[in-house]
Amino acid sequence: MAADGAFRVKFPSPLPPSGITGFSHPNCYMRDTHNCSEDMSRDHFISKSVLDLLCAKTVDVIFPWTDVGRRTAVGIENLTSGILCVRHNNALSPLDGVATQAFRNLVDAAVYVIRKSLATKKIFYAVSGEGLELWALKLLFGAYHATMATEDRDALKGTLPPDLSIFQKALEGEALARPCGLYVRSAVGPMGIRAGWGPLTTETGNRVTGLRFLAGPVEFELIVDPAGLNFDAIRQQSFYRPSAIDLTGTRRAADIFLSGPTFETSETMRLELRETRTSEGPAPSNTPTFAPR
Ligand SMILES: [Zn+2]
Repeated sequence: MAADGAFRVKFPSPLPPSGITGFSHPNCYMRDTHNCSEDMSRDHFISKSVLDLLCAKTVDVIFPWTDVGRRTAVGIENLTSGILCVRHNNALSPLDGVATQAFRNLVDAAVYVIRKSLATKKIFYAVSGEGLELWALKLLFGAYHATMATEDRDALKGTLPPDLSIFQKALEGEALARPCGLYVRSAVGPMGIRAGWGPLTTETGNRVTGLRFLAGPVEFELIVDPAGLNFDAIRQQSFYRPSAIDLTGTRRAADIFLSGPTFETSETMRLELRETRTSEGPAPSNTPTFAPR
C-alpha cells in the first residue's frame, strides 16, 4: 500500500545512486545528465529474459510522416551494448525485471484462460504499469541509439532523436504528460495483427514519436511525442494506461492489475479469448495461440 492507500507494485529506483558524478561519457546516450561512469557497459541492453517473452524479435519505431504512420522495424536482439555507460546501464537494468514479470504474467494468464481444463477459478496478477512504461521508454531510446550506432542507421536517416529530457524526467518520477504514455490494444483478431489501424498522422514531422511491441495477446504502443498524431484514431483502438487487463475465456478468467498513479484511475481493458483447438498437443508455453472468442 502506498501512502494514499492505493496498492503499488514496487521496483528499484532507475536512477544512479548517490549523487551526480559530473562526468559525461561521449558514447553514453544519457551523457547530457552529466552522471556517467568512465567505463562503457558491455552487457546486453535488454536482458534475454524479456526478449524471450516478446512475440516478435523486432519493435516498430514510429514517426509521424506525411499522411500515414511511418514505421521502421528495429531488431531488438541486435540492440548493441556500448550505448550506455556502466553506471546508467546498471540503473536501468532493474526495469527489465519489471517488464519480464509483466510479460510473463500476461502470457501465463492467457495460457491459463485458453487451456483445456475444467478449472473455473479466477486468478489475479499485479504488475507495475509505471515501471512497464519506463521500460518501454528505455526500449525506445535504446532502439534509436543502437540503430544509429550501426550500419542500419539509414533506416532512421534524417530523423531527430526522441527528447532525452522526457526520459530523464520520467525516471525521476514525473510521468509523461497526457496524452503521451503507454497504450494497449488487442493483438488478437481474424485479420491478424494491426488489422484496421487507421491513419495515425495529420502533419509532417521527422521526430521519433514512439514504438510498438507485442507481448502475449496484446500490443503495447508507447507515445512520447504527440505532435501530428491522431489521438481520436488511437483511442478508438487502444486503452490508455489501463488499470487492468482482464482476460476472459470460455470457462475462466484472469485479471492483471497495472499499478501506478497514472494507471489506477483508468478504464480496465477487457479481452475475450477462446480455448485453443490443437490436435498436436499443447503449444510451448511461451508461444500460445490466440484466437478471438
Ligand atoms: Zn552514462
